[in-house]
Amino acid sequence: MSSHLVRCATHGSDTAAFVCSHLVETLRDGEARGVFWSRDHDGCINAYCSRCADAIDDNGGELTSDIETKFDIQLICEACFTKIAHSNGLREFN
Ligand SMILES: [Zn+2]
Ligand SMILES: [Zn+2]
Repeated sequence: MSSHLVRCATHGSDTAAFVCSHLVETLRDGEARGVFWSRDHDGCINAYCSRCADAIDDNGGELTSDIETKFDIQLICEACFTKIAHSNGLREFN
């Protein structure tokens, strides 16, 4: 469906997901840091931890390239994001 595929070492080819570096930490250590997510117009998940979501709020809800640099946005696969979501107690996110 989405043409935005990423090759993940764990999950093979899956839909791309863009997350802040803190959520990648959650993927590693399983610690809940909050997760705020949405799907972009390409159908890819964009997700941030609570602190990054607060920073976007402080910026009037706008995600600028400045903020994206600060967040150190990482490209992972959607199956990896599912793991992060579960670490944060989220079960349904589609
Ligand atoms: Zn973050
Ligand atoms: Zn993966």
